[in-house]
This record gives sequence, structure tokens and C-alpha cells, in this order.
Amino acid sequence: MVVKPKIRGFICTTSHPTGCDAAVKAQIDYVKAQPKTEGAKKVLVIGSSMGYGLASRISAAFSCGAATIGVIFDKQGSDSRTGSAGWYNTAAFEKYAHAEGLYAKTINGDAFSQEIKNEVIDLIRNDLGKVDMVIYSLAAPRRTLADGTSVSSVLKTTGGSYTNKSIDLKNMKISDVTIDPATDEEIDATVKVMGGEDWIDWIKQMKEAGVLEDGALTLAYSYIGPEITHPMYFNGSIGRAKADLYASAKKITAEVEGVNAYVSVNKALVTQSSSAIPIVPLYISILYKVMKEENCHEGCIEQMQRMFAEKLYNGGVKTDSEGLIRMDDWEMREDIQKKVSELWDKISDENLADYADIAGYQQEFSEIFGFGLNGVDYDADVDPAIGIESIG
Ligand code: NAD
Repeated sequence: MVVKPKIRGFICTTSHPTGCDAAVKAQIDYVKAQPKTEGAKKVLVIGSSMGYGLASRISAAFSCGAATIGVIFDKQGSDSRTGSAGWYNTAAFEKYAHAEGLYAKTINGDAFSQEIKNEVIDLIRNDLGKVDMVIYSLAAPRRTLADGTSVSSVLKTTGGSYTNKSIDLKNMKISDVTIDPATDEEIDATVKVMGGEDWIDWIKQMKEAGVLEDGALTLAYSYIGPEITHPMYFNGSIGRAKADLYASAKKITAEVEGVNAYVSVNKALVTQSSSAIPIVPLYISILYKVMKEENCHEGCIEQMQRMFAEKLYNGGVKTDSEGLIRMDDWEMREDIQKKVSELWDKISDENLADYADIAGYQQEFSEIFGFGLNGVDYDADVDPAIGIESIG
């Protein structure tokens, strides 16, 4: 099958197996080119197939030499349909990890479910005994609860409506968007999906099952960002869920003996999830422009490799005064934010390409689905049904 991109707004409905393989390989090569990190040895990554979770798994494996178990929620392709990018990423990750003798197994299913928690706990017990790190990197639109009912997260403000510039990813035009406030019910549902309840469940159950090393580290990811995004993010429905995540980290550390839980505040980056948030993609395009000019731009892999090397290990976990790990330190630098805010005020359809890294945004968006990578023959016939070594 010859696979071409089918992009619909912020979703691409096809993905390219060889391209995803090349993207994963490039991340692995980046990590291997950096000094090794003396750190985690047995790591569980929940949400390991894309974005920050994938980059965390790659950093754990190729920087620390860790055995990894990944939890993904992805689809295998068939002869007539491509699989999800996360499926192909995981197939590539396992292939490269196994080639270097690293343990890597993956469980595919809904991380919110009890069934998957049981499967993962059994796998750890049988294969690794215990893990010393658990990374919780889910970005999910909905969650099925234990009673079978389902709740959905929303990306809305809390309080009043908010209007600001946004970019329409279908035609790359700027227009004002107004985001309406979430109802109390929608906020509660967003907290259920993206807050810390399920993270706490995972850690408590793993502790009870005896599969956590004493002194184990667990991490979840968040975002804060500048004021222009605050009504939408930090003070929005998703921000309420993130506040719940911070409280959950404190709860885990206090209630689960021998476990230290942290939230890492990461940089805004093009991922499948961030593309769905109004206002944020335009901010990211301007941010990329400024950070590339200032030579401090990072993608998911640079962020996660630096987190392992500088913020988690080599002298202990480094946090700010509120106990948060700040991987957004370069994004939030005063000089960077001053430039971003000047460009934000001036940007329009006429100067879009000068003031924002639109080409960079589109390139990274395509790469998420395995398109636009150097050295990949996009006219070649590929097998869309490839398997993941530990799954088949
Ligand atoms: P992403 O969409 O790239 O990846 C999300 C991962 O979660 C995917 O591997 C997906 O398959 C998996 N997943 C979703 N639902 C699942 C389920 N039910 N069971 C198992 N796996 C499931 O997202 P991302 O941007 O890497 O986000 C990960 C975390 O990082 C989120 O907490 C997000 O808020 C945070 N974060 C993102 C950014 C950003 O700009 N992208 C910035 C800071 C923090």
C-alpha cells in the first residue's frame, strides 16, 4: 500500500509506518549522541506511544539503559487501512530496543481500565519483579469509568468567555475565536479524565501488589504557559485538571510509603493533543520562531532527555519552590516571552510567515504521523499491518 497523508484540521487520519520508524529512530539517535544518564533501571510508561510519553520511554531506555513497559491505546493496521501512528512508533521503539538487548514490552488497551492495570501488574511481577519509575503521560479526550459510563474532557474557560487570536489549521488563517465557559459538570468531567484520580489508582494498586521499588519515582506532566493562554489553559477546564494533578502528586507522596511523586511542567510543543486546543497552536508557532532564533528550541525528545539528565538524576530531583519540575524554564524566560508577546500583538494573515514558524509547525505536525521525513520514500509500497514485537 502507498500511504499518503489525509489531514483534516488537527487530525491526520492516516499514518506512515516507515516514516514513524524514521521519526522514532531520529529520537533514539539524538539520545544516544548525549552522555548516558545513571538513573532508572525498570520503567513503566503509561501513554508511551506518542509525544512526551514516547520521548520519556526513549530517554529511559537509551539514556539510562532501562527496561521499559509501555501502555498504549492504539490500532494495528490491516491490508487496507493504516494503523495509528502510536502503533507504528511502538513497533519501531521495540525493534530498536530489542536490537540493543533492552527489555521492552507493551500492553495495548485502555489505561483507565482495571483489566489493563491487572495485566500490567502481572507483567511487571513476572518479568521485572518491581519498577523504580512510573511515568503517567496520558492525554485523553474521554474516560470510561468502572461502572461503564463515560466522561469527556473539554477545552473551555472557567468563569467568562474569552476571545483572542487563533489559527485555523485547515487553511492557516488567523481569526478571533471565542471560547465559552465550561459548566460545573464539564469541569468535573475534565478533572476525572485529565486529573490525578487514575494516576493515584495506578500507584496505590502497584504498591499493594508489591511491584514498586522502595524510593520509586512517579511523574505526570503539565503545562502552565504565558498569560495569553491562561484563560484557555491554566485557568481553563484543563487547568483545573492539572491543579488536581499537583494535589495528586502531594497525595501520592504523603500516602504511598516509599514513593515520590512529581509533576513536570513541560514546554508547549506540537503534539496530537496540543493541536486540538484553541489559541495554543498560534502561540506555539510564534514560540518556535523565537526559540529557534534564540537557539534554545527543543522538541519532545530534547525536553525529556534533558529532564532525565539534569532534573531527575545527577544530583537528585530539582524542583521550583512549589515542588514542580520546570522543563518550561527556557520557554518562560523573560526575554523569550517578551518577544513572543510583541509578535502576538502584531501578527496577522499578512505577516504570518514572518512572525510565526508556520512551516515548522506544519512540518512537526506531519512528522507526528510519519510524513515529511527525510530519506523516506513516500511512493514505496509499505505493509500497513506490521506488528509490535511483544504483541504480534
Ligand atoms: P499525545 O497526544 O502526543 O500523547 C498522548 C498519549 O496518551 C498517546 O500515546 C495516547 O495513545 C495515550 N493515550 C490516550 N488515551 C489513552 C488510554 N485511555 N489508554 C492508554 N493510552 C492512552 O500527548 P502529549 O502532548 O504528549 O501529552 C502528554 C502529557 O503531557 C499530557 O498530560 C499533557 O497535558 C502534557 N503536556 C503536553 C504539552 C504539549 O504542548 N504537548 C505541554 C506540557 C505538558
